[in-house]
Order: sequence, then structure tokens, then C-alpha cells
Amino acid sequence: MRFETEAIHSVREDDPAYGALVAPIYQTSTFVFEDIGKTRGYDYSRTANPTRKMLEETIARLEGGKAGFAFATGMAAESTIIHLLKAGDHVISGDDVYGGTYRLFANVMTELGVQFTFLRMNDRKAIEAAVRPNTRMVWIETPSNPLLNIVDLEMVVGVARKHKLLTVQDNTFASPCFLRPIDFGVDIVVHSTTKYLNGHCDVVGGAAVTTTDELTQRVQFLTNAMGACASPFDCWLVLRGIRTLPLRMKQHEKNAFAVANYLAAHPRVKRVFFPGLEKHPGHDIAARQMKGFGGMVSFEVKGRPKAVNAVLKGVKIFSLAESLGGFHSLIEHPATMSHASMPAEVRQQVGISDNLIRLSIGLENADDLTEDLGQALGS
Ligand SMILES: *Cc1c(COP(=O)(O)O)cnc(C)c1O
Repeated sequence: MRFETEAIHSVREDDPAYGALVAPIYQTSTFVFEDIGKTRGYDYSRTANPTRKMLEETIARLEGGKAGFAFATGMAAESTIIHLLKAGDHVISGDDVYGGTYRLFANVMTELGVQFTFLRMNDRKAIEAAVRPNTRMVWIETPSNPLLNIVDLEMVVGVARKHKLLTVQDNTFASPCFLRPIDFGVDIVVHSTTKYLNGHCDVVGGAAVTTTDELTQRVQFLTNAMGACASPFDCWLVLRGIRTLPLRMKQHEKNAFAVANYLAAHPRVKRVFFPGLEKHPGHDIAARQMKGFGGMVSFEVKGRPKAVNAVLKGVKIFSLAESLGGFHSLIEHPATMSHASMPAEVRQQVGISDNLIRLSIGLENADDLTEDLGQALGS
């Protein structure tokens, strides 16, 4: 089946009791045993739940992986996956990863004895040079947040395989509709399903997809042991969102192109970050490894911080809010919002300036979006 069909027919939902086309929500904590030591496949919802299973199988199919796991949040997925490691292990991570990922690594896992090197993932020699005898994992985010930097997955996977390192790609920004990291040899995919996979701004959720039986068993063990799994109702909502993922991604991208082109020509805009623009660093790699460029656009406003505030407060259709990937267009200020958990010097180093604004382009009419930005920029 092709992607659009897979998003709808990946698992048969038919309800054996009444033939409901859409599967019911198995909102239950526990399952009655048929006999001593004999279940109908489920015993307790932390371990596994039928609604969750449907979502997990769907995400695994869409990513082309072996097994899927659904978590309460994207960070719950990441926390579980990083626990594949132990104290003394070392991770090479992108330096411009999601702010919460950076916080988990730098402030929580470092305290527990896991070591991290943060670097820009575009230089093979720099990655090679960062490999230590205790390096176990490479953590990738492409396109990255909020600068939309592009990582060449084939190149990074090449380095990782040479040194027998596990590769993890945070695929939240692209979604499997536009990027399938496993096709490039990535071992584990993680998601914040809060974003494009759900797409309706009404769930926080996460997912992980594994590629080998060994990883599947270890992640299943950790999911049950750590207990960060998603609720049946949230799984049902994300599953509902996924049905329209391909349709939504096409519209997000179309609108993002319109906004990026509009901003690139605007006299009050210093710089636009959108992988679809030919002069965006990494555009050629993105064009090669992705089926679309996504719906996220960042830009720098010329002038003082006051000019940034005027835009953030001046928009009427965009809402000033964190998060992304939903039907509703959002605007945010990484320095004080999504990336406030990153120290100011680190932000500067990685290129997240105080004048940077991040847009999550929604599904509204593109002309309304550009007109809204135009009046806020004062054109
Ligand atoms: C939002 C986000 C996360 C964290 O997900 P939550 O659902 O908010 O916990 C991780 N990575 C990326 C790229 C994100 O955008």
C-alpha cells in the first residue's frame, strides 16, 4: 500500500462485537483472565492496551520499522529511549535539538552519569573526532528546531555504523510523510505525536519505532518498567489524526512555501529559515532525502528586540504559543519560549538569536497568513 492508503488502512479496526468501522477506545486499566495463567492477549494497560497497540502498529508501518511504542509525551518517549544507555555511556547529539531534549540530556541524564557531546551534525570529521571508546549513541534531529538545519542521514549513519553506534532520529518536524529515517539506516525513530502526527492541538503524546527484535524487546521492557506509556483515549485521538496526515502535510508545506517566499522578499526581514528555499543551507540534502520540506518557517526580524515584540503581538491569525504541527498557525519566540531552557550562551553559539521568530504554519488560507504577517511587520 502507498503512504496515503497506509495511513488509513494500516490496521484493521473492525470491531468483532458490533462491526464498528472505527475501533472503540479500550479505556480500561486491566483485563480479565480467561483462566489461570491465560489472558486474551492483554493483562494490564501499562504493559499493553489494544487501542495503544493500533496506534503503535500504525506508526511502525508508516515509518517502515519493526515495532512502535506510544508514550504520554514526546519527552516520555525520549526519556525511555535514552534509558537504553547506562551511566558511563556517551552520546553524540545535535547541538540545535529541541530545547526539552537538550534539558533532558544536559540537566537530567548528565546528573545520572551519561555523557553528552553537542555538535553541529554537518561535518563528518567533527563527528568522527567526537567518538570515544564509550560512545554508544548518536542523536539526530532533522530538520532541526528552530533553525531547520538539515542533517545528511546517510553520512551520519555511515559514521555511526563504522563505530557500531546506535542512531536515533527525532522525526517530529518532518513526520514519516516527508522523511523515513529508517530507509536511511537509522535504528530508532522518536516522535512528539503532539505535533504533526496528531495535528489537532488537543493531545500531548510521543512515540518510538524500533528496527530490530533486540531493540523491540528492550524498549518493550523499558516501556513497561518505566511506565511512561500513552493513555487509550490519547492513542485513539492520535490515530484519528494520522488518517489525514498526508493531506495535512501537503497543505502545511504549500502554505509554508507561500509564507517563506513572502518573508524572504520583505524589507523588515533579515533572514528566512525554510529548507524549501534554494539558498537554505542543506537544501540539496533535504531535497534528496525528504519528500517535502515541512510546515515550519523561522525568520529573523531586523532591528531591536522591540521590533520582534511588535510582530509577536501584532499578529491576529497566528497565536502566540509554543508547540507546532497543528491545524492552527502559531508564532513563538525561541529565546524566551521553546528554547528558554537552553542557556543564553549556548543559544548564541548555535545561532538562535534574540531576533528569531518561529512559525508553525497551519492549514488556513496562505493569503490570510501572509497578510497577517505583513500587517504585523508593518508593511
Ligand atoms: C515538542 C517536541 C518534543 C517534545 O515533545 P512533547 O510531546 O512536548 O513532550 C521533542 N522533539 C521535538 C522536535 C519537538 O518539537
